[in-house]
Amino acid sequence: MSSELVRSFYAAAEALAPEMIARRRDFHRHPELGFQEVRTAGVVTRVLTDLGLEVRTGVGQTGVIGLLEGERPGPTVLLRFDMDALPIQEENAVEYASTTAGVMHACGHDGHTAIGLTVARLLTEARAGLAGTFKFVFQPAEEGLGGARAMVADGALEGPVPVASFGMHLWNTKPLGWIASTDGPVMSAADRFTVKLHGRGGHAASPKESRDPVVAAAHIISALQSVVSRNVDALDQAVLSVTSIHAGTAFNIIPETAEILGTVRTFTPDVRDRVIERFNALVAGLATAFEVESSVEYQSGTKAVSNNAELAARVRELAAFVPGVTHIVAGERTMGSEDMSEFMDDRPGVYFFVGSRNDERGLNFGHHHPRFDFDERALVTGAALVAAAAADYTARAA
Ligand SMILES: [Zn+2]
Ligand SMILES: [Zn+2]
Repeated sequence: MSSELVRSFYAAAEALAPEMIARRRDFHRHPELGFQEVRTAGVVTRVLTDLGLEVRTGVGQTGVIGLLEGERPGPTVLLRFDMDALPIQEENAVEYASTTAGVMHACGHDGHTAIGLTVARLLTEARAGLAGTFKFVFQPAEEGLGGARAMVADGALEGPVPVASFGMHLWNTKPLGWIASTDGPVMSAADRFTVKLHGRGGHAASPKESRDPVVAAAHIISALQSVVSRNVDALDQAVLSVTSIHAGTAFNIIPETAEILGTVRTFTPDVRDRVIERFNALVAGLATAFEVESSVEYQSGTKAVSNNAELAARVRELAAFVPGVTHIVAGERTMGSEDMSEFMDDRPGVYFFVGSRNDERGLNFGHHHPRFDFDERALVTGAALVAAAAADYTARAA
């Protein structure tokens, strides 16, 4: 039964490949940054409306939601696709290269939007055999600007309330035919911090008159390296990176202030709490030791994306029936972050990766690289698998 479901969606997706690729290339030519996806949202709205879906626009500024009701009653599931591009100047010389200077689809969200529209069509055409309601969420501003949070604040999770959520990312570090659907945590929580140190400025020739925030900053940065190595269980994962330090204006002046910025990545609340606790203690203790004042601004960013084990396993089972899929893994994790977590939160969800790299064709640059591009055959794989996973879930839960 599930093998037939997957194969029929795959065949239908393959037949729609020319349309899906044309759309992906159109989005690629016209990339738009977070919360500015006006043209993209317009295309999405038109396609969903033409399919006969109930469409809501302007959700979280430029987000679009389409609702499709199956013929039989059943649960509501959320299917999420992101639409935004990045502030990167494209260096590919393809005919569908970006026509907007300094903006590029370098993460594959052009592909995700095209996949989403194809999934909407696949499920609309299969509607007679479907149970439940499918909520297509086309999200703006995934790249660190909080698009998912904006959509949730605008009621994306209300009326009808989804009981499960599905999302995916094309994955260019792995080849076409590779699928990862991981049990549990898959993408990390991403927090950011700013440490401000206030000392006493003065002449560099008489440091004893000053309270040097540069020396204090140097010791704090060194000490922060011990948090992950000494305070986090060796079997857990965390990253603490100091990425920016600013102080001073001249070679002969001890500055008054210093500022340190960075990020913390963790998978579980326990580890996150422990890292924050040690972070604060080290900053406060060393500031006291070096006679400077300190303040910490710690901003909790995206939460970790954590897959429901049962749903993740089901996606792996279904993936095995997708033609061309040769590698299915359960343990892929990344310290990157994703605001898909906003839609998963308390409800079971799964976020999986679809290999899209092709070394022979030179489609093997990483995400966010000015030469990023992927094998478009992955669009068919992605569309078939998302459609099958969602339809399978509502059929079994109905
Ligand atoms: Zn990205
Ligand atoms: Zn992305």
